[in-house]
Amino acid sequence: MAVKQGRRILINKDLCQGCKNCQLACMAEHTGNKSVLLLDLENRANQARNFIEPGNDGKPVPILCRHCDDPACVTACMSGAMTKNPYTGEVSCDINKCAGCWMCVMSCPFGIIQPDRVNGTRAVKCDFCAGRHIPRCVEACPTGAITMEQR
Ligand code: SF4
Ligand code: SF4
Repeated sequence: MAVKQGRRILINKDLCQGCKNCQLACMAEHTGNKSVLLLDLENRANQARNFIEPGNDGKPVPILCRHCDDPACVTACMSGAMTKNPYTGEVSCDINKCAGCWMCVMSCPFGIIQPDRVNGTRAVKCDFCAGRHIPRCVEACPTGAITMEQR
């Protein structure tokens, strides 16, 4: 499936300082008020779609959905919940169709898709900050470790 246009988040792990601003920004973007200041970190419903993990050298590595050209999660999804938009390139999950079988979780080579932390019944993944042109995590990164490419 040819993608005519689209956005992609690029990662330069050498610039990442592990501040986790990107994770906080992602969590805040998916709350009602979208405010980092008002973010309740003890509320399990507040769930980031991106992760910072230590690499083999102990340095932080940003892990984000790549919205892959040939997404393994879309191929693995049996309910049709996971789809790739042929025009924008975005890989998205329709939570109304998600059956909670976790085939997407198991098939993603980056381990980016997680079960929701409240009920554990639907997949939670990056939605490219629906409605925003510049993703919130990219905007929040102080070092340029994550940037957006427009194709
Ligand atoms: S693009 Fe938006 S939804 Fe995706 S990881 Fe960044 S902040 Fe989260
Ligand atoms: S905001 Fe940027 S520097 Fe901070 S953890 Fe995220 S990617 Fe790394």
